[in-house]
Amino acid sequence: MRYHDSMISLVGNTPLVRLNSVTKGIQATVLAKVEYFNPGGSVKDRIALRMIEAAEQSGELKPGGTIVEPTSGNTGVGLAIVAQQKGYKCIFVCPDKVSTDKINVLRAYGAEVVVCPTAVAPEHPDSYYNVSDRLVRETPGAWKPDQYSNPNNPLSHYHSTGPELWEQTEGKITHFVAGVGTGGTISGTGRYLKEASQGKVKVIGADPEGSVYSGGSGRPYLVEGVGEDFWPTAYDRTVADEIVAVSDKDSFQMTRRLAKEEGLLVGGSCGMAVVAALEVAERLGPDDVVVVLLPDSGRGYLSKIFNDEWISQHGFSEDTSAGQTVGAVL
Ligand code: PMP
Repeated sequence: MRYHDSMISLVGNTPLVRLNSVTKGIQATVLAKVEYFNPGGSVKDRIALRMIEAAEQSGELKPGGTIVEPTSGNTGVGLAIVAQQKGYKCIFVCPDKVSTDKINVLRAYGAEVVVCPTAVAPEHPDSYYNVSDRLVRETPGAWKPDQYSNPNNPLSHYHSTGPELWEQTEGKITHFVAGVGTGGTISGTGRYLKEASQGKVKVIGADPEGSVYSGGSGRPYLVEGVGEDFWPTAYDRTVADEIVAVSDKDSFQMTRRLAKEEGLLVGGSCGMAVVAALEVAERLGPDDVVVVLLPDSGRGYLSKIFNDEWISQHGFSEDTSAGQTVGAVL
């Protein structure tokens, strides 16, 4: 019989798919590492598994313990699935601006979600930061993974994403492109690929315009999961050879094209990373192999990126002079 012992063993080993339409006119091969094939639907399952297993080994997480993390998104889903299968409880803390759909997903997996008001100062006792710190202090057997400073975040990519890409491309990868949030993906995968290729693989970070990684001050942008207003320790500044800043509009337009033209319903940070990958690929020749990592699925963004009204309200509409209207008439 061929089966998996649990959903945990399905983490990683995601497919590489060639991009065929958005790459028109480009000579290099551009491949997408499609991370929504992970059981929790995102790249974050990888870090959840390694952070939990490392904490079990170090004794920080004991049988029956509780995982407390301020997260509303993909990391929470990964932690919730792994924790459930291994018999731990999860408490996630999120700001009240997070959509009820996201909160309901975490609760569906059995996690407890504490919602905090956004409209209070960070030093207020009810703030997002203070509530999660207090829960860690007051919950017996509590452990906080802290993806921003946990070395097992980048290490999970050093031990899984990096080796997978090297094997899948038979060592032919020449460029690796990924969005930067905590920095775990680019730091761990990038370091592995540089070591395996003896420094030949170039590593390119994609960043929303306004975020610190591309020289901004943390100015707001709408692409979720990437960019920061501080420098996390999970990010190794020595790995990326280049950081490409991408606007919200370009990110969302490319995200919509990936669904329409490539059959890839993915999130906004994926569109952002593809814009950066194409910018790099345009400079390259037929022997180059560019891999771009797509962190999550578009299902979590249906009411925003894939909602025409939201897109036009924010001024992100496609230029109607392009194929769009003609296609509709035909
Ligand atoms: N895209 C999305 C949707 C994410 O949730 C994250 C994680 N914050 C990233 C990209 C960036 O990955 P990393 O934290 O490894 O830099």
